[in-house]
Amino acid sequence: MNIAPMTPQEERLMQQVLKQQSLRCKRCKQPVEELDCYCRHCGKPLRPFMGFWYDHGGILLCTLIAGPVSLLPLWLSRKLSITVKCAWSVGIGLFSAYLLYMLYQSYLLVSQTFSAVLSSAI
Ligand SMILES: [Zn+2]
Repeated sequence: MNIAPMTPQEERLMQQVLKQQSLRCKRCKQPVEELDCYCRHCGKPLRPFMGFWYDHGGILLCTLIAGPVSLLPLWLSRKLSITVKCAWSVGIGLFSAYLLYMLYQSYLLVSQTFSAVLSSAI
């Protein structure tokens, strides 16, 4: 049996089919299209910087847990517009300043308590 060599057009089509077969969702292993941003089967983001931590909820949670560290996922996000990122940055800055102020106030309270305890002990 003799098989004729593939024409360049057939070869391109074959490569395209192989590429599409290799594009699969990492979570559910279902095939996905090359231009898809999210899996059509399970909803997992297929591109970087588009997951939960790069959206409003994730950035809010990150701000509450880690304060200004949330600026990193905020500015890496591909989901949010530049206006939204600027608004979030102002909010995160104000919240961080408030946290710093409260930390300083608690330091003052603790140091006053310690000096009062020490002076009464002597
Ligand atoms: Zn999936």
